[in-house]
Amino acid sequence: MTSSSPAIVWFRKDLRLADNPALHRAVESGAPVIPVFILEDGSDTIRAPGGAGRWWLHHSLERLGEALGKAGAPLVLRRGDAAEAIAALIDETGAGSLYWSDSFDPATKARDDTIRADLSGRGLTVESFNATLLFDPSAIRSKAGTPFKVFTPFWRTLSSGPEPERPLPEPAKIKNVEKTPGSDALSSFGLLPTRPDWAGGIRESWVPGEAAAAERLHDFLDEIVQDYRTGRDRPGRDGTSRLSPYLHWGEVSPRQVWHAAKMRMDAGLEPSIEAFLREIGWREFTHGLLQTHPDLAAEPMDQRFTKMPWRQDDEGLKAWQRGLTGFPIVDAGMRQLWQTGWMHNRVRMITGSFLVKDLLVRWQEGEAWFWDTLVDADAANNSANWQWIAGCGADPSPFFRVFNPVLQGEKFDPDGAYVSRYVPELAKLPPKFIHHPWDAPKNVLAKAGVELGKTYPHPIVDHATARDRALEALRTMRRQV
Ligand code: FAD
Repeated sequence: MTSSSPAIVWFRKDLRLADNPALHRAVESGAPVIPVFILEDGSDTIRAPGGAGRWWLHHSLERLGEALGKAGAPLVLRRGDAAEAIAALIDETGAGSLYWSDSFDPATKARDDTIRADLSGRGLTVESFNATLLFDPSAIRSKAGTPFKVFTPFWRTLSSGPEPERPLPEPAKIKNVEKTPGSDALSSFGLLPTRPDWAGGIRESWVPGEAAAAERLHDFLDEIVQDYRTGRDRPGRDGTSRLSPYLHWGEVSPRQVWHAAKMRMDAGLEPSIEAFLREIGWREFTHGLLQTHPDLAAEPMDQRFTKMPWRQDDEGLKAWQRGLTGFPIVDAGMRQLWQTGWMHNRVRMITGSFLVKDLLVRWQEGEAWFWDTLVDADAANNSANWQWIAGCGADPSPFFRVFNPVLQGEKFDPDGAYVSRYVPELAKLPPKFIHHPWDAPKNVLAKAGVELGKTYPHPIVDHATARDRALEALRTMRRQV
């Protein structure tokens, strides 16, 4: 290996130039740089992104390719088994070093460790860095040295410890190799839907990429954050950061978010900023859970829940997925998800509770649907939150706490703005009835153009009866364990 041997930077969930330690190290080494992204579909160990995630990835790679090209080193795209693709690239280019950002998902990490051992054994320099979390989860431990199972002490420990490292600058110039290796065409990845093209609403709602992430972060911190403590529970408002897909794909780093938010602390915004950073803390917590529970998407952390008498309800599941349950706040959430690839956190909790408790359908069905339809679908956040909803996760909401979808709607969407937007057939109902149209007098329904069972479904369950059924299932489970 000579000092001019190229350095490969393997991009993964860090699709950005700024605060990217792998890229930074490669540039600093003085070697010419080969940035590569490998689409690993067909892998047995790495879960492929769902439909909405694939849409995001396409655009994110497009943006990343443009930015890298401008900085001097075009992005190389390859497809297939990562170890084989990297070995091929090394053979083609004589690369002497490889850098990437760590994954804390045990399956990916085990695969990465094999690649590291193999290439280090062949004399290559191999280095990886934490670029996706504030801290490596194994650095946040209880006094007894064990992983935290409860969020509050985890957060106390994280937030009272040393500050996360400061973000690294974006490299101004990246030295290119003399002969750029061949690259697959992005279009050949087939990440975009074609027949049918269901992504219209997602296109209208999102601009993927590092520049858009930075813009959204600043818009959020300049204004929206002021009202975050109440705004974050109002799905009808633009009251949260909407950074989740950017964080998931690594178009912005949690360290950039953390330090940008901390800089605003002086402006008298402490309580709001703290509430926001606490959510970033939840993200750290769930990634720690995935690190210690590789089967988080499939296996309940509380094993008693394997004995829960879940129902097989294909029709109910379909109605839930399509936003046709007859409960307006649930339907609005499911339609927001389908149309825009995202759902407000409060409504994720309401729709999740409805599936798992009112319909008594296994939480894994909900996890899988969200995985396919969310642009921010994330192995740690999605699984941990579904387990939280179902009462079987770490520090969960107890199963016996069943959300009442009507009261939740009235409390968090009091003027019905959210329901009106996503369930337009109810938009003309007065707010008083918009969350329970079945109670509206006939003349009110007629005036609003609503005909239950025709223009909008009757509720598919009676909530009180469904709640009793869920609690009875819980008792049955408890008797069996
Ligand atoms: P903000 O309120 O602005 O929060 C800032 C960031 O903190 C978010 O971008 C996210 O990275 C993190 N965060 C916020 N809430 C949580 C949380 N409860 N757990 C972990 N991290 C959090 N989030 C995902 O990123 N991907 C998922 O696949 C996902 N699936 C979910 C499934 C269910 C059933 C539920 C209840 C929640 C899920 N969440 C998931 C968490 C949360 O709903 C989203 O992170 C949030 O709605 C994203 O919007 P935001 O960026 O405006 O959040």
